[in-house]
Amino acid sequence: MSLIQSRSPQKPDDVVAERAPVTPDRVRKLADSVRVAQDAWRRRDPYGRAAALSGAADRLRARAGEAAALIVREVGKPVVEANAEVSRAAAILDYYAQSCFAAIGDLLAPTLPANQPGLLFTERRPRGVAGLITPWNFPLAIPLWKAAPALATGNGVLLKPSPEALACGELVAGLFDGLLPDDLLHVVPGGADTGQAVVEAADVVSFTGSATVGRGVAAAAVRAGLPVQAEMGGQNAAVVLPDADPATTATMLAGAAMGYAGQKCTATRRIIVVGDATALTEALVAAVAGLRVGDPADAGVAVGPVITDAARRRVLDGVAAARAAGGRVLTRLTSPGDGLYVAPVLLDSVDPGHPVACEETFGPLASIFTVPDLPAAAALVNHVRYGLVTSVHGRDIGRLFEVVRAVDTGLIRVNTPTTGVDFHAPFGGEKASSQGPREQGTAALDFYTSLRTITLCTPPPNPAEEAA
Ligand code: NAD
Repeated sequence: MSLIQSRSPQKPDDVVAERAPVTPDRVRKLADSVRVAQDAWRRRDPYGRAAALSGAADRLRARAGEAAALIVREVGKPVVEANAEVSRAAAILDYYAQSCFAAIGDLLAPTLPANQPGLLFTERRPRGVAGLITPWNFPLAIPLWKAAPALATGNGVLLKPSPEALACGELVAGLFDGLLPDDLLHVVPGGADTGQAVVEAADVVSFTGSATVGRGVAAAAVRAGLPVQAEMGGQNAAVVLPDADPATTATMLAGAAMGYAGQKCTATRRIIVVGDATALTEALVAAVAGLRVGDPADAGVAVGPVITDAARRRVLDGVAAARAAGGRVLTRLTSPGDGLYVAPVLLDSVDPGHPVACEETFGPLASIFTVPDLPAAAALVNHVRYGLVTSVHGRDIGRLFEVVRAVDTGLIRVNTPTTGVDFHAPFGGEKASSQGPREQGTAALDFYTSLRTITLCTPPPNPAEEAA
């Protein structure tokens, strides 16, 4: 069986990790051992579970520099963002450590009036083995925002990280070494075969990645009768109203579109300007030109490389196709020579139905559109099959709210970029961006548990005892 490798995108000769993929048969065996360990873990008192999660948070903080450097090296994330991801990942562990003490009944129906003397109440309990399949772009935060609530609620975990983030996946496993019972969590590197085996062996499935793969994972889980959530791609829009300040809005949008080379599911891909776009376009071209492209280990760099040569090719081909169809390139930037760099590209005059405006290229590429009014802006936002996040920029609260009400995305952010995730709030999209319930926040605690309703009556009178 051929080995899988992760390579540093800024220095593609640098092999960061190389592993044999875990075979489907081995995944099944590991799932069995996770299930045995989980049976004891679900009975563990909340102090024990919370201590394991906060111990992992402490360990991550102690290794923060090393973890951030690994993220920079393995996936090319600019170091400032890598540091932020590490801090967020530790905070996620702390947040879910505290959730071990949260109520375990349905909050709307914790205890109900019983029809007989006794109690009628609800209780959530863990589902068993959580099969987690994750992408490469947030190689610590995403595995942890799935694993932490799964563990906190008493589940075991099989985590299949992306082949592009092999070493980061192992770092996640190492955070829990000696803190969790043996076999409760296993990281299983591999590709599609390993991922499919995880879906088949799990009791609950959480996936983050592309829409194409996610749809297949969700369908396989549903066929197997498993609860599933899949968070997928986006074609996110920023709507700019006439009273938005061009300079500050442009700075925000340039970062949201091009930061980390546009490799965030929440990146801004379409900038929809209501009215005259001249001032905003000029400001955007200047803001994008002001972003430094280069070695992600350099603290001044905002745009590092893209993850693979295929990803680079997709962006270049997308730009060429858009130009051939009449699109205009507004930025004339060059990328550093070595490494998988692509200079950020801002387009206008693109047909809204062109694939670069409808599908996810997942690189530093965004298009500007002009529309006459708010209904036209909302129609253009909603025109794509995705529905992850929209941002709206302006001052008139009535008009801002009109856009908020009219767009069909799962996340809507006013006067703040499409990028940025609050791990303590429900997260997820609509339409092709998402399948199943939300993740993060307390929504995740619900997802990794099932609700049951318990009727507890006092025993009937015992005639023998009464006679005595
Ligand atoms: P991907 O879909 O290629 O891979 C995701 C994971 O699925 C990887 O671990 C991969 O090995 C695994 N996989 C591949 N084929 C599989 C199969 N047949 N069965 C089971 N598992 C399989 O995505 P990627 O390139 O790693 O990540 C980029 C994508 O992720 C983008 O589309 C981005 O928008 C999306 N993303 C979404 C969110 C979100 O929360 N909505 C967050 C981050 C990234």
